Amino acid sequence: MSTELLPGVLQNIGRGVGRLLAPNAGPMTGPGTNTYLFGDAEVAVLDPGPLLDKHIAAIQKVAPGPIKWILVTHTHPDHSPAACKLAEETGAELLGQPPPDGYVQDKTFVPDRILEDGDSLETAEFCLRAVHTPGHASNHICYRHEALRWLFTGDHVMNGSTVVIDPPDGNMKHYLDSLAHLKTLNLAALAPGHGHVIDDPDAVIDWLINHRLKREAKVIARLRTHPRLTLENLTPFVYDDVGEHLHPLAQRSLLAHLLKLESEERAIQDNERWRLAD
Ligand SMILES: [Zn+2]
Repeated sequence: MSTELLPGVLQNIGRGVGRLLAPNAGPMTGPGTNTYLFGDAEVAVLDPGPLLDKHIAAIQKVAPGPIKWILVTHTHPDHSPAACKLAEETGAELLGQPPPDGYVQDKTFVPDRILEDGDSLETAEFCLRAVHTPGHASNHICYRHEALRWLFTGDHVMNGSTVVIDPPDGNMKHYLDSLAHLKTLNLAALAPGHGHVIDDPDAVIDWLINHRLKREAKVIARLRTHPRLTLENLTPFVYDDVGEHLHPLAQRSLLAHLLKLESEERAIQDNERWRLAD
């Protein structure tokens, strides 16, 4: 599934499923945000992306039928801000979870229908079932295409990089629990919010879980030999395999690891310094 990702061109990636790349490539978004379209006679749009008129027009141009529903995986600025305008222009219903508190959240997203875990959007052509996957964002929903057994993963799983877990809305313990939950869903493929379709879901999910647990092991090893470290002190050791320019971001995920250990009573924070619990 290595079709090139090109903005503005609808790519058929599965039965009744199209992918339209938004023109927002960047360090945090990779090739850009994937907007997915489902159905022909009546269309659902998943993650219309940032508020870019060009992309909003492109979605309507390539949609094979009237857009009836707009779903979002979460309310980060590269996924949902176009939803409100696209709904105004099409009359489509907005589905998802409202934004939690926090400056990086898109407050313009106000769902007409709030989706809880297990809720589904069922049409004559497809059924998408909501899977609540907190961790990257507390209101994150993945969508399981029931006929294809594909999971549309938003930022819960990306292709080509690991995601930042940014507390307090990001939560490492929830993230790992949500990853483990995916393995119970009998999935044939993962369609991420950024990058290509992933054909071997369970292997990739295992890799992601192991990657985070290895990172956690590095945190523990460093604190064992060097107790009472600040986040700044710890980052270069725990992320010695990551370019220094990424360390400010890495520090957010490191905090998420430490807060997980704290919640498990394995680490203690004292005046912004961290040590292992006795
Ligand atoms: Zn995100």
